[in-house]
Amino acid sequence: MPRTVVYGYYCEDCAEGVWPATTRMELKWLRDRERLVREVASHLAGGVDSWMEEGLTFLYEHSGHSLMIRERNR
Ligand SMILES: [Zn+2]
Repeated sequence: MPRTVVYGYYCEDCAEGVWPATTRMELKWLRDRERLVREVASHLAGGVDSWMEEGLTFLYEHSGHSLMIRERNR
């Protein structure tokens, strides 16, 4: 049986990853527009989706580090 492939952000500097419940395409989208999304999110009363929140937190904590999008448990 094919296993479900889970994608996430991985920091090579810290050897840490985060695996939000979303697709690789959306992870890439968020990473490319991090500043814009963060700006928009700050004006949203209800906040953003949890995967987005999780992703933004990780991107913030590891800003300037060597980040990549990869599969989990590769
Ligand atoms: Zn890091």
